[in-house]
Amino acid sequence: MKILVINAGSSSLKYQLIDMETEVAIAKGGCERIGLEGSFLKHNGKKQVTIESPMPNHESAIKLVLDALVDSEHGVISSMSEIDAVGHRIVHSGEDFDRSVLLTDEVIETCRNNTELAPLHQPANLTGVAACKAVLPEGTPMVGVFDTAFHSTMPEHAYIYGIPYEDYKNYKIRRYGFHGSSHRFVSEEAAKYLGKDPSELKIVTCHLGNGSSISAVDGGKSVDTSMSFTPLGGVPMGTRSGDLDPAIVEFLCKKHGFDVSECVNYLNKKSGVSGLSGVSSDFRDLGEAAEQGNHRAQLALDVFTYTCKKYVGAYAAAMGGIDCLVFTAGIGENDNYVRSQVLKGLEFMGVVADLEKNAVRVKGINDITGAGSRVKVLVIPTNEELVIARDTKEIVCKA
Ligand code: ADP
Repeated sequence: MKILVINAGSSSLKYQLIDMETEVAIAKGGCERIGLEGSFLKHNGKKQVTIESPMPNHESAIKLVLDALVDSEHGVISSMSEIDAVGHRIVHSGEDFDRSVLLTDEVIETCRNNTELAPLHQPANLTGVAACKAVLPEGTPMVGVFDTAFHSTMPEHAYIYGIPYEDYKNYKIRRYGFHGSSHRFVSEEAAKYLGKDPSELKIVTCHLGNGSSISAVDGGKSVDTSMSFTPLGGVPMGTRSGDLDPAIVEFLCKKHGFDVSECVNYLNKKSGVSGLSGVSSDFRDLGEAAEQGNHRAQLALDVFTYTCKKYVGAYAAAMGGIDCLVFTAGIGENDNYVRSQVLKGLEFMGVVADLEKNAVRVKGINDITGAGSRVKVLVIPTNEELVIARDTKEIVCKA
């Protein structure tokens, strides 16, 4: 069985074709600048190619992806009918779905009704679904896998904010959480690695990438997570502020002459470690600048790692203990300095890391647990596409 995984953004579209016998991506790539001048497709199949071609919309982008997949030189399949199903990353399930679902017309309509909760991402995700429906052979099953679904198990006291309850009832203002596929994948991988059933474990998962979120996973279920109503909440990120005193919004509006949307844009695009450091949103650049004595770059790293540490402590308290701490995503997997700073000082709660192992990069899971640690400390590469493909296979096989 071969499953095409699609992650459609507003002007980009990433894909992987996964062979489910081996769970290996036999082709992957992405279209950039959809709807803009200079659009191109980078495809890695039998060969790696960059194809420059106009892509006025997502449908034309999907057509190019499919052409690349069946191409006699760099393709990996002989016809589109070899694609058994398509799994789509969809950002927001609202409170309508607590797991992945077959994308019927009715389900797509429900997803559309949740656009207000993710105005930037949801329409792009759904455009990807429509484009696939238009281009792939009729009847090819499509499955939606939501970023928020894994967090649907959060208890009410973790997802309700301290604002009038009517605002939750009337407008669905609550914590939703994101990166669900990643938190689910790495917590399941951790349980497998430890030879335990997920129901036996209290795990804190740190997904630290361009966007970062930290989750408390108790007995295999998400019970709290740092991203919030939108992906702007939680720890400071590349360009996003993370949590703030809400009164700062009005203050910033007055000082900068912003309206509220401009202010939110500022908090999304101009803030985080980028705004703090004035150097970059990329942690590699921050590390280099800090080493050369740039105070603001060091400060940005300190604010980031300190906030992550606070979440780890908070979630250990929320779960009444912790058995395992997991780092994943671009920063979590690659930045040993960030990991060492988050881990430093957590010995009081039984977390001891082996700093030599932490400094080494390995393929697969890196167990960086130190001698005498009560808590396992693991670096686990995430694989959100595989989660999407596995869910798609399960749903299609059941249907
Ligand atoms: P996304 O949220 O876009 O999926 P990723 O998980 O790929 O992001 O993370 C991207 C971030 O990971 C980059 O911005 C960079 O800061 C960080 N990163 C990637 N490789 C390294 C590295 N070798 N050392 C430090 N940071 C890294």
